[in-house]
Amino acid sequence: MASMSEQGAQGFPSVIGHQWAVELLQRGVTTGHLSHAYFFVGPTRVGKTTLALFLAQSLNCLDPQPTPCGQCNACRKIRRGVHPDVRVLDDPSSSIGIEQIRELQREMALSPFEGRWRVIVLCDFQRATQEAANCLLKTLEEPPPKVVIVLTAVEAQALLPTIISRCQVFQLRSLPVQQVRQVLESQLGLDASRAELLARLSEGRVGWAMAASADESLLRDREKYLVALEQALQQDLATRIHLAQRLARNAAALPDVFELWQSWWRDVLLAKSGNTDSLTNVDRKAAALNEAQRYTLDEIVSCLKAVQQAAEQVEHNVSPSLAMEVLLMRLPRASVEAA
Ligand SMILES: [Zn+2]
Repeated sequence: MASMSEQGAQGFPSVIGHQWAVELLQRGVTTGHLSHAYFFVGPTRVGKTTLALFLAQSLNCLDPQPTPCGQCNACRKIRRGVHPDVRVLDDPSSSIGIEQIRELQREMALSPFEGRWRVIVLCDFQRATQEAANCLLKTLEEPPPKVVIVLTAVEAQALLPTIISRCQVFQLRSLPVQQVRQVLESQLGLDASRAELLARLSEGRVGWAMAASADESLLRDREKYLVALEQALQQDLATRIHLAQRLARNAAALPDVFELWQSWWRDVLLAKSGNTDSLTNVDRKAAALNEAQRYTLDEIVSCLKAVQQAAEQVEHNVSPSLAMEVLLMRLPRASVEAA
């Protein structure tokens, strides 16, 4: 079986799902009706950056076909992150400052070195400081020639409306779980039960599912964060604050942690209503049923809301430790005896 990296190097297209977006971008490239800036919005690991790289390849592929070949020098360099005209800023743990935008602006003023287009991908653009966002806005208002800018974020509200209005917006949705399962079976050769489990856990975020199939640490992390949640529910407030600070230290992991905890409380809610067929965390059905007995419907709904709010706060640059502390303090206290 080919490893992920081998598949990535030659197997193309690597965009899975989002067919409408692929077609729209391809049509733009072939007809020359391109936008100067795109905004791809959607859940974490649903394929936003992959789609941006697909666009970069489509624009710079050396093959005359309208679709990127995935094989030529340009396509390969873009995939390996070493094409001089394609820049991707994707470090989720740091903010995007005005100096970084200014540096990109100096680059954008030059014609492409090697390809036909410069492509700048700014992932999770809610990480940009106000100053940096305003600085980029100037570029969006007077776009340099032969430059395409792609911004991504989980939620549209996290960006300035003035920025969004300058971009063509693509709303990317999670794929049907069964489609993810098929991809895991047919492209990665996973057996049916493992494919089913990972597809469900991914909630249609195909990038997460593929990463989890190749990297056991994602599943270990999932276990760790579910256990942390379980523990928090049994702890007093002082211990919860301590736990919150510990969890918040790994700020880059928090969007995934919040997605996971939301999926967990949705499962508990489903279990409460007696519907266990469509659980996300299928491997923890017994625990979901147990939790469903322990809490009232109102408590479960408010836990789900509290996690959603914490996720939104972090997305809007509230300090991770503050958001996590508030969240853990809002969770009800489970009586240990009920376990
Ligand atoms: Zn190519």
